[in-house]
Amino acid sequence: MIKALINGDWENVPEAHLQLGADTFAYKPGLYETFRTLNHKSVFLEPHLDRLIQSADRIGLTIPFTQTEIFEMVKTVISDFPDPDQRTRILAMPNNLIIYTSALELDNSIYSGIAAITVHANRETPDVKTTNYKVCLKAWRKANDMGCFESILIDGNGVVLEGSRSNVFWVKDGILMTRQKNVLPGITRQTLISRSPFPVSFGLLNQSNFSDVDELFITNSGSGVIPVIKVDFMEIGTGEPGPITKQLLLLYNQWIHDGC
Ligand code: PMP
Repeated sequence: MIKALINGDWENVPEAHLQLGADTFAYKPGLYETFRTLNHKSVFLEPHLDRLIQSADRIGLTIPFTQTEIFEMVKTVISDFPDPDQRTRILAMPNNLIIYTSALELDNSIYSGIAAITVHANRETPDVKTTNYKVCLKAWRKANDMGCFESILIDGNGVVLEGSRSNVFWVKDGILMTRQKNVLPGITRQTLISRSPFPVSFGLLNQSNFSDVDELFITNSGSGVIPVIKVDFMEIGTGEPGPITKQLLLLYNQWIHDGC
């Protein structure tokens, strides 16, 4: 059972009912946000709430709470949980605003580089973070079954979209590159784009050009910057996290500490 705040009241909910993309998910389609906490303080909560409210407007979902009310509910949920570092989720569905949290429990070995696979798949509404998560869950499970950390989604033209639960960046000749459109406008992605000390450029990466990139990494709000050292069992760059990725990883950790 998960202790969740539902429309402002505590309830115990079976974990399976909250599993996005699974047949057991018990609610009408809606939106969600996932973010982490650091020492019982939310990390970059404001942009997450902005994205939630803007996406709700876009898809015509009514959230009967103000941003300030949601902020207060999030604070209640975070302070109720014993672990200082948490992964917190907001689900906004017709009639239900659900907030719950769990221990973050990051596996630090991912920062030495992870392996990813590629999967041909498209998210239906790439710019909105919907609970319609079937495509991503299937892709992620495939990676997991193959002993890999993430699936990189590839469109019908063989071009990289994003990860099943992350955005994708690559480095070529000192320039940080990422795809501009048809991906989730990730909060971590935007943080890097705005604050990177390295030049940033938008571009497209063909699946057949993974061998040409110098560095590759993925980003999400739970884990931050995660170096990718293998794609489809082929080494990327030197086969180790590259210098720009490593510096961004350090910087991102500083930013989240400063922000809290
Ligand atoms: N793309 C997808 C498909 C995701 O599920 C996520 C994680 N929520 C991201 C990108 C990264 O977004 P963020 O940095 O906001 O966590």
